Amino acid sequence: MEKLIIIGSGPAGLTCAIYAARSNLNPVVITGHNPGGQLMQTDVIQNYPGIESITGPDLMMNMMQHAEKLGTRMIYENVASLSKDGEFFRIELNNSDALTSSVIVYAAGTTHRKLCVPGEKQFSAKGVSWCATCDGAYYKNKVVAVVGGGNTALMEALFLSNLADHVFLIHRGDKFRADIAMQDKINAKNNITPIMNSCVVEICGTENVEYVLLDNDKIPRLDVSGLFIAIGSSPTSLLLKSIAELDEAGYVKTNGQTATTCSGLFAVGDVVSGSLRQAVYAAGTGALAAVEAEKYLGIR
Ligand code: NAP
Repeated sequence: MEKLIIIGSGPAGLTCAIYAARSNLNPVVITGHNPGGQLMQTDVIQNYPGIESITGPDLMMNMMQHAEKLGTRMIYENVASLSKDGEFFRIELNNSDALTSSVIVYAAGTTHRKLCVPGEKQFSAKGVSWCATCDGAYYKNKVVAVVGGGNTALMEALFLSNLADHVFLIHRGDKFRADIAMQDKINAKNNITPIMNSCVVEICGTENVEYVLLDNDKIPRLDVSGLFIAIGSSPTSLLLKSIAELDEAGYVKTNGQTATTCSGLFAVGDVVSGSLRQAVYAAGTGALAAVEAEKYLGIR
């Protein structure tokens, strides 16, 4: 029987672990298949207070080491099922191990949204990617495209523009959703071409991606070796579907203080309805959940 199990190892889960460990809750973190979460795929972070600039992997490795140094037990596994029986939660892992606890902090974040067009699945890892930091090096001196109009898409395009010969930035709208500062950086690059009011309708090639088709009469086809999809994320909340209330988009509803509709289950970070979806916010909610867990256990 564990005192506190944290599901997820992004900034929300790891900050919760740091606070909980300092309060002698002996937290266990189940990392999921991507320890460190989405920031492990982020090139550079320049808005985490007190740290002018740091790569996503460096920030997350620091957080993991910090949590472990304080006594957090990391389990590098995925959760297969989560159920509640009376006062206790039971977690089954993909390797069939089981754990029980009276408090769970759910910090499983979000997963990349898919375009759902022909060719996306076929060419996944053969030219279609969701991570420029991971796969960008394969496209040195080639022509690539990025899809999306948010901060992530523009960041991916900027990163790729330093490797590839040319980057097309395909956006379905007529203006970007990304911060103005990010848009200014894109405008200053002469090897990034925005293509507005356009959607990718098919990804084509033989072995690997060779071109994409657009629903744009003037530019119906772009010859590219890689297509980076950065169109936002969906909540990783399937495990909670039968035990806690979710909003219409699948994000977890909380009382604003991390408590969900299921007693003993707290939710933090990007998976929460109304989250700011920023590392600093995720970390803040993680800290709050550790305190709320202590109160729930009657320690504080
Ligand atoms: P996002 O802000 O939700 O943007 C998603 C983009 O993809 C939007 O431009 C959207 O178009 C487009 N899109 C969605 N579905 C699409 C589809 N099926 N086909 C084509 N385009 C589609 O997601 P994000 O960029 O991943 O950012 C998520 C959050 O993290 C945001 O709050 C963002 O500010 C934050 N973030 C911050 C930083 C930072 O350094 N500060 C870096 C990365 C992310 P529409 O605009 O037409 O809806």
